[in-house]
Amino acid sequence: MNDIPLLRAVALHKTFKVSAQGHSTRVLTALDQVSLHLSAGETLGIAGESGCGKSTLAKIMAGLLKPDAGDVLYKGTELSQLGRSEQTAFRRKTQMIFQDPFSSLNPRMRVGDSIAEPLKIAGIPVPSQRAELARIMAAVGLQSDTVNRFPDEFSGGQRQRIGIARALAASPDILIADEPVSSLDISIQAQIINILLQMKTDFALSMMIVSHNLLVLRHICDRIIIMYLGAVVECGPAVELFDKFRHPYTEALIAAIPGLNASAASKGELLRDDLPSALSIPAGCRFHPRCRHAVEICRHEVPNLVEYTDGHSAACHLSRQLYG
Ligand code: SF4
Repeated sequence: MNDIPLLRAVALHKTFKVSAQGHSTRVLTALDQVSLHLSAGETLGIAGESGCGKSTLAKIMAGLLKPDAGDVLYKGTELSQLGRSEQTAFRRKTQMIFQDPFSSLNPRMRVGDSIAEPLKIAGIPVPSQRAELARIMAAVGLQSDTVNRFPDEFSGGQRQRIGIARALAASPDILIADEPVSSLDISIQAQIINILLQMKTDFALSMMIVSHNLLVLRHICDRIIIMYLGAVVECGPAVELFDKFRHPYTEALIAAIPGLNASAASKGELLRDDLPSALSIPAGCRFHPRCRHAVEICRHEVPNLVEYTDGHSAACHLSRQLYG
């Protein structure tokens, strides 16, 4: 059995220089020693508050952004070692879906042409292109008579269907979706999630879904990674993570889900203050200024990501004490 992950990140580190008016340039740490893997056929969720590095991670995994240190491996080969043609093949096999599909579509291109563009680039004969275009549009629930319309003639949900269709036209192995439903109405969100689930089966995809919505991730993912200020703080099977979280930050995120009485305590009791700036990450456990359990060691020693049960890890000095 081949146990090399389809996609793997090893110790990714990424910073951005930011300069505010009247201030010197400062360094924002978006990712700090992030390692993860995506196995063939798996759906992996990445969760955390805005500004925790999720989108930066998604772009690096899709090869759209280079890390400062660390690497991404596709089927065991480092992206930085791929030749030009292999890079092109990787980009085709790893497609990204964005929160705002409108921004990734050419407003002056008819949607049929936009969706079929990857088929043309792949050199597929025109008759086969038409057949494939019809198949993909039907799969994502787009009417075939909409091919000649322009992106601004569609609703947000339909545009996201177009974005998914365009990604599928490249025959990807991997779909990386960055907040694919967060800008949509609740009823439309469910439709798009169901399409993604169906596509995973019909097109034999592996998926990485970035979302701040843990309920969405629990519904569609096999595993979930929780990020906080650029680092992985917990990772585990989706259902187990909800039933037996091992990190106070995960507990707080679950407690914040409306109507889900996962914790006796409220989010306010579990999570102090707002997310600190990634310009100055706290020493020790980066979560300690907001953690109600913080003790002395938390303020000066970085907790390691420790595996407690098969595939379930957390980075908290007190995880065993708090959660058994
Ligand atoms: Fe809280 Fe300490 Fe655990 Fe960090 S290491 S989450 S501060 S208890």
